[in-house]
Amino acid sequence: VIEIRNLHKRYGDLEVLKGVDITAPRGHVISLIGSSGSGKSTLLRCANLLEDSQQGDILFEGEPVKWKGQGLARRPADAKQIMRIRTNLSMVFQQFNLWSHMTILENVMECPVTVLGRDKAEVEQKARMYLDKVGIGDKCDAWPAQLSGGQQQRAAIARALCMEPKALLFDEPTSALDPELEQEVVRVIKALAEEGRTMIIVTHDMKMAYDVSDHVVFLHQGLIEEQGTPDQVFKAPKSERLQQFLSHTT
Ligand code: ATP
Ligand code: MG
Repeated sequence: VIEIRNLHKRYGDLEVLKGVDITAPRGHVISLIGSSGSGKSTLLRCANLLEDSQQGDILFEGEPVKWKGQGLARRPADAKQIMRIRTNLSMVFQQFNLWSHMTILENVMECPVTVLGRDKAEVEQKARMYLDKVGIGDKCDAWPAQLSGGQQQRAAIARALCMEPKALLFDEPTSALDPELEQEVVRVIKALAEEGRTMIIVTHDMKMAYDVSDHVVFLHQGLIEEQGTPDQVFKAPKSERLQQFLSHTT
């Protein structure tokens, strides 16, 4: 679904991504791990064009992003293509980012109706179905502030699903949650993995990464230091940096 080749990204003098390749084939779950500041969030944001990048290619369903300009001036060139990519790669953030002035149902319905222009009644039906699926079908009329963190994050996942995207991008979806609430969200992510959804998951939760991933990528200072199956990466890490990183996690 998405393929990134030799991606370079800098903020002024700071080179955050130094030539990263990553591929998420249809139905695969890729986990991105690495220490704070290694560029994980930046990579996700570059993938769905929320951030510009200076060099390298991004392909969505085999179609390369068209660029204009070069270096720090490089930007995606085709507004329709940007829209197609953003709406097909739905992001779920650490801080949920639900709209506080909308009910849960309205949150889930908003983008399919306003951005994709879908029929409201149909979207409502789907929204209710996805809220049921993540286990909060009874919270449709609640306000975000009335939900626990785990419920808010599940609402955010339902919102992403309601866009019916080709892939889901998660940026530390469980990091803001207490351990008990974390498990509610992990269960939903596992169920999505079993359904064969294409996902890229940035996470500090090594157990979840081990359980759900087809492929694990360890990012270190803007480069892929090591990657492989969960067994290769977690049970037989080759690089010293990865061994060290894993020794600090649980
Ligand atoms: P964490 O695990 O803490 O979320 P991360 O791997 O997601 O870390 P990024 O957020 O991608 O790391 O940041 C990578 C580097 O880029 C960091 O050094 C960060 O300070 C820098 N950075 C990120 N966003 C910006 C920005 N908008 N402007 C300048 N520098 C930035
Ligand atoms: Mg991050």
